[in-house]
Amino acid sequence: MAGLSPSQSFGSSTGLQSDSTAPPPDAQAPAEQPKYFFREKYAKLGVKGNFMPLAAQPINIGLADWLAHQTVENYRLVSSIVACIQETDQGTGKPICNPESCPKMTAGSYIWLDNNRRPVAVSASQYISLVQRWLNAKVHDPKAFPTDAPGTTSTTYASGSVTTPASETPIAAGPTNLNAPLSQLAGKDWIGRDAGFPESFYNDCRTCFRQMFRIYAHIYHSHWIDPFWNLSSSSTSQGWTDLNSCFVHFCTVAKLYGLLTEKDVEPMQPLIDLWIANGSIPPAAANEESKIKPPQ
Ligand SMILES: [Zn+2]
Repeated sequence: MAGLSPSQSFGSSTGLQSDSTAPPPDAQAPAEQPKYFFREKYAKLGVKGNFMPLAAQPINIGLADWLAHQTVENYRLVSSIVACIQETDQGTGKPICNPESCPKMTAGSYIWLDNNRRPVAVSASQYISLVQRWLNAKVHDPKAFPTDAPGTTSTTYASGSVTTPASETPIAAGPTNLNAPLSQLAGKDWIGRDAGFPESFYNDCRTCFRQMFRIYAHIYHSHWIDPFWNLSSSSTSQGWTDLNSCFVHFCTVAKLYGLLTEKDVEPMQPLIDLWIANGSIPPAAANEESKIKPPQ
């Protein structure tokens, strides 16, 4: 099975080599042990450095443009992770995540409900495919994500990427929405109005992040060992530390801009708490310094 290609993933071997010699997780761990991915030992990242410059809004870019960029970028990253569980398992001839292995969309004991408060009726793989189709349509819908909005000269920002060595990552200015006029957050104003974004834009971003979060949560709870732990044992593939890098970036952006609620993140809270405690999620994001308060 192919791993994440360097262009798709957080391409660093840092951490992978040292961990490749660690004993594999004990699948029969006592019930009182936290899940592997909730342990400090497995909270390491494939990429070292500060994630804040990748998440904070540069001073010369509007908030809505930046949120659109982050939504598209995080969708690209989660897609590269999803590709790993959609790979065909050579042993079974089926994708790793399939309707037999994952008949329900769950994250451990968490089961998501549909609009009628019933567990979603499709398997995890079907759910993830539907979400991917929905996200793809959303981020390519010029009405929902008008990335060629007035005043926007480019939708590609020199923010570096998570594969960019820290020394080459342009330093972004600090978050600027704290300085936004109050009128922008009140009345009939909304985030991105002046740049041509629809009134629903911020909520659309939150919905995108909520759905991407569910994909990450399912992957951690159901596929951490296969494929991600197994990939880490190969010197040519990226594994769980890269999964962590994608997810910590995702969590940093979500926290910084209030894109997920505490209830949304419950299935992964222990890992998020570990990352806040060890600084992987930067304090400015952990403290939600830029958290957006939408108009009531
Ligand atoms: Zn699955």
